[in-house]
Parts: sequence; structure tokens; C-alpha cells
Amino acid sequence: YTGKTGSELLTEKIKKFKVYEYQSVPIVVNESASVYDAISTMFLEDVGTLFIVDKNSCLTGVVSRKDLLRAAIGKQDLNTVPVHIIMTRMPNITVCRKEDLLIDVANKLISKQIDGLPVVKDTAQGLEVVGRVTKTTITKVFVELISDNHI
Ligand code: ADP
Repeated sequence: YTGKTGSELLTEKIKKFKVYEYQSVPIVVNESASVYDAISTMFLEDVGTLFIVDKNSCLTGVVSRKDLLRAAIGKQDLNTVPVHIIMTRMPNITVCRKEDLLIDVANKLISKQIDGLPVVKDTAQGLEVVGRVTKTTITKVFVELISDNHI
């Protein structure tokens, strides 16, 4: 018997959760794609955040639902405006890496007030997008904590 309280055990458990154990598949769109194509991809892939990449598949930006809504109520032709015009761009993108703790990512989602972030891998050309962690990822882990009898 360790003498640890239930809450201490739970804390230890949660601090072991790593990004790579829970990350999901990232949906990426090339920066030259149109805003119209980005909207189509968001519906087809059923995600709320798209990661935007250059021709080397390196991260250059992020597009959220509201970014696309803002563009859609504007006057531009959605078929001709490239998505890189409306995206939030590097270096202002919050990212994580697969070895990061999930709890640190959850804290970033809250402090930056965003729905998700890309899991990246450092390459010679830039940051390669290898996964995504979203509020849904965190919600699933929260539910698993109970159903898997972790506590
Ligand atoms: P929504 O805009 O649909 O509410 P978010 O809250 O995720 O979705 O996005 C808010 C703003 O933050 C958007 O302009 C979006 O481009 C930007 N954003 C989303 N994810 C990130 C991220 N990982 N790093 C930096 N900015 C982001």
C-alpha cells in the first residue's frame, strides 16, 4: 500500500498520458487551394480545423470554422481566393509534438482559446503535420478515465 490518495493516483495517471497515444489523423489542405475547396473538405472530412501546408507538406497555417464563415460572408469569390489569404499563419500557430503530455496540450487549448492543434514533426524543410489533438480528444480521455476503471 502506497499511502497515496485516490486523487494523487489519478494525478499520476493523467500526467503519463502522451499525445501520441491519443492523437487523431490530421486533415491538411494545400495553401493554394480555394476557400471553397477548404469548406468542402471541412464538410467531407467532418473536422472543425484544417491544417494548411505548402508544397513540401510543411505547416504554414490553420483555418477554423469561423475563419471560413468570415470569408463566406465577405464579398470575395470563394472559388478564386486561396485559403492562405484567410488562414492564421506561422509563426503564430500553437503546435505540439508526439512526446508532449496531453495535459499540457489541454492547457494550451484553454489558454489560447482554440479547438485543436497540430501534432508536428521537425524536418529540414519545416514542420510536418503528423496528427491532431482537439477538444474531442480530451473529452474522450476524460470519459475513458471512468469507463476503464483507471481510478
Ligand atoms: P473557431 O474560430 O471556429 O471558433 P477556434 O477557436 O479553433 O475555432 O479558432 C479561433 C481562431 O484561432 C481562428 O482564427 C483560428 O484560425 C485560430 N486557430 C485555431 N487553431 C489554432 C492553432 N493551433 N494555433 C493558432 N491559431 C489557431
